[in-house]
Amino acid sequence: MIDFRSDTVTRPTQEMREAMASADVGDDVYGDDPTVNSLQAYAAERLGFESALFTATGTQANLLAIMSHCGRGDEYLCGQSAHNYRYEGGGAAVLGSVQPQPIENQPDGSIDLEKASASIKADDFHFAITRLLSLENTIGGKVLSLDYQRQACAFCDDHELLLHLDGARVFNAAVKSNCDVTEITKHYDSVSVCLSKGLGAPVGSLLLGSEAFIERATRLRKMVGGGMRQAGILAAAGRIALEQGPLRLVEDHENAEYLTAGLAGIPELDINPASTQTNIVYARCRSGKASQLRDYLANQGILITAGDPVRFVTHLDVNRDDIDQLLGAVRRFYQS
Ligand SMILES: *Cc1c(COP(=O)(O)O)cnc(C)c1O
Repeated sequence: MIDFRSDTVTRPTQEMREAMASADVGDDVYGDDPTVNSLQAYAAERLGFESALFTATGTQANLLAIMSHCGRGDEYLCGQSAHNYRYEGGGAAVLGSVQPQPIENQPDGSIDLEKASASIKADDFHFAITRLLSLENTIGGKVLSLDYQRQACAFCDDHELLLHLDGARVFNAAVKSNCDVTEITKHYDSVSVCLSKGLGAPVGSLLLGSEAFIERATRLRKMVGGGMRQAGILAAAGRIALEQGPLRLVEDHENAEYLTAGLAGIPELDINPASTQTNIVYARCRSGKASQLRDYLANQGILITAGDPVRFVTHLDVNRDDIDQLLGAVRRFYQS
């Protein structure tokens, strides 16, 4: 199978499997796992924070972030299409009693700061207390500009809000922004990062922030059942992902551009080449046959996500030949 559904589908490399097999481990709930400890220390340094916490998933890292910043009856501002509003089961509300205040994302994925300002609740007992602004970068494969993130940081300072980044793909953002990742992360009080997407680890995410923040998050991680024991087995692969993964993402972006150019030559597809900024490609089927296209491709061993628009994601386990096969199959579908 050639799998374009997501960058989460990558399998661990041989090097990762070997590192996992020989990892030095201990009980991480006691803080005894040297491989987890070393990953956390390396990640904190790499992303420019005091502390880091290894989590089971990105969803868990975002939940811990919101719950560590906000208490019961507080609220967080976020994008209407934010992962931590739409795609995380309402976790912050369900488990944290923290109310989301979603704001329509602008076409570039940012949140209009004037709208954010208008959404901040007055100090009045009728209202929830607005504590946090949560941004996402990349969002739908789009990159927030460094300038916008600087403005968002100043905005939060002015309004005494905390600022969280859902940085599941923040390294893709850094590659596209042509900067070190710390030029992005320095604007935030906390950042979550997925090791298990483009970076290639089989499992795991990281949450980064101040020492006091990570202490609160560690307590909450235990509470939600995320205290893992010999987690160094997973952290060993995560370390390789964090060290080597970022260097390779440029290939995914080039492959996504190549795929975009190919798809743009197929008249039945509506695709804006400028919308491909990183490793995610969106196209609309003009005739609305997305699910037939998906089924046709699946029969040829190619998997895609047939939403509206259709989504294709490039990653470690797809190369130019795979993309040529995909393009050939899409053309055949429309000729048949
Ligand atoms: C994938 C993703 C997450 C959640 O990560 P999981 O490990 O799948 O829980 C959070 N935010 C964004 C933007 C993501 O793409």
